[in-house]
Amino acid sequence: MECFICATDSSEVPSSGDYKQLACPDCGEYRISGTAIALFKEHNWRFDVDLTRRWLTSQLGTGKLPLIDSDRAASLI
Ligand SMILES: [Zn+2]
Repeated sequence: MECFICATDSSEVPSSGDYKQLACPDCGEYRISGTAIALFKEHNWRFDVDLTRRWLTSQLGTGKLPLIDSDRAASLI
């Protein structure tokens, strides 16, 4: 499927829970919540690719996979 951030062809990692996990060759691996996905569809939002990738990079040191929830998504458009 397409990366939610940059629309590059990405692989979806099977996961349980109310989120999708994607491995994008350009953005890396991240999770996005079902609520955030619904918001993007509803408002026709697009991620600010540079801003979002910077945020993803800043999360690398935490040891957890970055999760883009609805609050986070609103700050990355
Ligand atoms: Zn991407």
